[in-house]
Amino acid sequence: MAHARFSPSAAHRWIPCPGSMILEKDIANTSSVHADEGTAAHFLASECLERDRNATDFLNCFIVVKNGNAAWDNENAETRTGFCVDLEMSENVQKYLDAVRSQADGNELLIEQRVNFSNFIDAENAFGTGDAIIIGQSEIQVHDLKYGRGVKVDAENNEQLKLYALGALSDFGMFGDFTQVRLVIHQPRLNHVSESVVSIEDLYDFAHRAKNTVQMIKAIDAGAAIFEAKDMLNPGEKQCHWCKAKATCPALIEHVIETVAGEFDDLSTCDLEAEIKQAVEDVPQHENQLLAKLYAALPLIESWSKAVAEAVSSKLHSGEQVPGYKLVQGRAGNRTWANAEDAEQVLKGMRLKVEEMYDLKLISPTNAEKLQKAGVIGPRQWTKVQDLIVRPEGKPTVAHESDKRPALDINPLNDFDTV
Ligand code: SF4
Repeated sequence: MAHARFSPSAAHRWIPCPGSMILEKDIANTSSVHADEGTAAHFLASECLERDRNATDFLNCFIVVKNGNAAWDNENAETRTGFCVDLEMSENVQKYLDAVRSQADGNELLIEQRVNFSNFIDAENAFGTGDAIIIGQSEIQVHDLKYGRGVKVDAENNEQLKLYALGALSDFGMFGDFTQVRLVIHQPRLNHVSESVVSIEDLYDFAHRAKNTVQMIKAIDAGAAIFEAKDMLNPGEKQCHWCKAKATCPALIEHVIETVAGEFDDLSTCDLEAEIKQAVEDVPQHENQLLAKLYAALPLIESWSKAVAEAVSSKLHSGEQVPGYKLVQGRAGNRTWANAEDAEQVLKGMRLKVEEMYDLKLISPTNAEKLQKAGVIGPRQWTKVQDLIVRPEGKPTVAHESDKRPALDINPLNDFDTV
């Protein structure tokens, strides 16, 4: 399958940080089991919408994912591989289906629709595939299913969905008098739905900015002397988080060190260890304003630290030299039975009691609920079980002021009054 260079799914990176297109280009993509699971969930969702079925209709079916493409695994029960449509997957995908169907009622629904936004950003073969696009009377809707359990993604200012919307407008704009687009992100596993309405004028403004970025990248491709890596690199949590170049990106390294330890002249000559040690000692004396700024930068710093650790490990594993570091044998893993069935037979032969032979443990409330959903525990029995479940209150935790939960009223003076 052709891969779009100006990919919508990476637009949150290449639009704010055009230089990432250059730094990332020689670093291979890696697939993960989580990405493949997401592909399987998308496949299930599109099959349900195409065939007008519910997700539970496919319970216990298997989806196999190869090179980013998904298909039903129709082999016999013993040899099937891939992702099983279990209760969890079917329930989560169903939430997305219900939401899309309720919006599509009376409108045209396009499923897994490839849209082309090349003319808006002046780039050849600029396309993407919208999970569900709904063409209404005066509005185009773009629905995006994100199946991960990672971070919540906001539809507001979402570059990926705006590019899909431009593509939909380019391909279907002639079929209506559209005044706005509605962008919706569904993250059923996080119980999160985010929606944003963008006027056509604002969408055109965005297209203009994206086109300017594309012009810059094309100029670099053509060998333009304007490319000064640091001018084209723009570190930030959103764009750097999944950037393949983040372990070695010079702009991110400077940004992190400057945030942690303040200004420095030259990374290669400064005593990094001493600077950071001093920075750690200074933290308790910082004003609240600065603490808030540092706190906001923590996710980016943590993700950069992780990327550096992974890069060092990966280079050593591939036989490269990293000054001052080497690979050694790690601590041995936990002991386990080489063959559990053989061990069971031998232990049985020793006439051990059941409670001596097996680690019996009561199921958790979560697993009890699974039994209830599967019909093993009936509704009246479930009422009794529910009465036995308690849930400790969560501890006070730091959240951004935009968090929907109300702020706790913590007043140490009042607390002393009650003593
Ligand atoms: S790590 Fe951040 S600043 Fe560096 S190229 Fe990637 S997105 Fe840009």
